[in-house]
Amino acid sequence: MTTRKATATRDSLFRGLLSRASVVILVALLAACAHAPRNPLATWVPSPNHDIRRPVLIVLHFTDQHSVQQSLHTLRTANSGGPVSAHYLIGADGHIYQLVSDQLRAWHAGPGHWGTITDLNSASIGIELDNDGHSAFAPAQIDSLLRLLTDLTERLHIPRTQIIGHQDLAPTRRDDPGPLFPWPQLADAGFGRWPQGVLVDPPAGFDPWMALAVVGYPLDDRPAAVRAFHNHFRGIGGDELDAQDLRILYNLVQQIESTSNGD
Ligand SMILES: [Zn+2]
Repeated sequence: MTTRKATATRDSLFRGLLSRASVVILVALLAACAHAPRNPLATWVPSPNHDIRRPVLIVLHFTDQHSVQQSLHTLRTANSGGPVSAHYLIGADGHIYQLVSDQLRAWHAGPGHWGTITDLNSASIGIELDNDGHSAFAPAQIDSLLRLLTDLTERLHIPRTQIIGHQDLAPTRRDDPGPLFPWPQLADAGFGRWPQGVLVDPPAGFDPWMALAVVGYPLDDRPAAVRAFHNHFRGIGGDELDAQDLRILYNLVQQIESTSNGD
């Protein structure tokens, strides 16, 4: 009796393990399907030659909040406009928090475009900097940002020039990371698009609006685009282009053209 009972117990234990294993396999299959949906219009002929899609741009923000704890809460819940998130948040003390995997789409950019990219959340990594929008950025925070930019550009093969501010892609809606953000310090470390060499006047016929569009700025609202450009490249306000703006734009466009020509 004891032996039969023991055998029966072993059998039911074995069946239990088998059914648990089936559930695990089924869940794994469902998860695989959920991550890689197949198109019912097509015959599935899988190729092993693929990897995960990668972002091509990094967007920098300031949190415009009072503390990193408040931002950690907001970026896992919602702000007044609805649910929001970012891949990273860097505290004023330089601590780096990650909230969303690099491979997933965080909700930080919202509507806008940069060059021909229209779905910024799909194309980018979002980095929030704990800053109230009116204060200088802490040196420890910028040091951590530079370390993170080095990691992301190397590991994800994002071009080092492809680092912009939230305002650049959405000049009518946003003003971050603002005129106090140290773009020149990023440029010194080799990040972002920045004027190089001696600035000269552009030739006659130079079209600054075409140049702003070539750099990436949306021109739906031209004064807003100039405000974004001023914040980023000169740390000043104002929505009218002046002679120095034209020199900077001419320099930037020449850099972009020489890159695309393979020089
Ligand atoms: Zn932002």
